[in-house]
Amino acid sequence: MRENRPQKGFGAPPKNKDLPEQILKRFDAQDLPYAYCPVGWLNLVIELDAKLNELAPHYKIRQIKEKFAGLRYYVDVPLYRDGTTRTQAHDLITKYEEMSYRICDICGDEGKEVSLTGWMATRCEAHDTKEKAEN
Ligand SMILES: [Zn+2]
Repeated sequence: MRENRPQKGFGAPPKNKDLPEQILKRFDAQDLPYAYCPVGWLNLVIELDAKLNELAPHYKIRQIKEKFAGLRYYVDVPLYRDGTTRTQAHDLITKYEEMSYRICDICGDEGKEVSLTGWMATRCEAHDTKEKAEN
């Protein structure tokens, strides 16, 4: 799961506890090890969850992670009578996953995709420089 994480430089990655309770409770117990969100994207994930909650109050989260510099947010959306809720939910998730490519995963400022010695991340100018200097 951590193949794209730096081996050193920023210290320990954030833990599950960084995700607020209303998001953690959407995971089944066995899926909790797959709850990982970089601190810079917490607000993004909190906003996405709030919008999904309006759309599909009983949706479940299977996994949250960072992959190839972008947010991945995997869910199960119950089948609602209108038949379009799932599509709307997945469109919303796609939109937020795309937004993550413009938000620094450390501080939440405006960022862009950068290559950091063998792995990709979305970083602002300040954190791009810091990581490269330490390697
Ligand atoms: Zn930053």
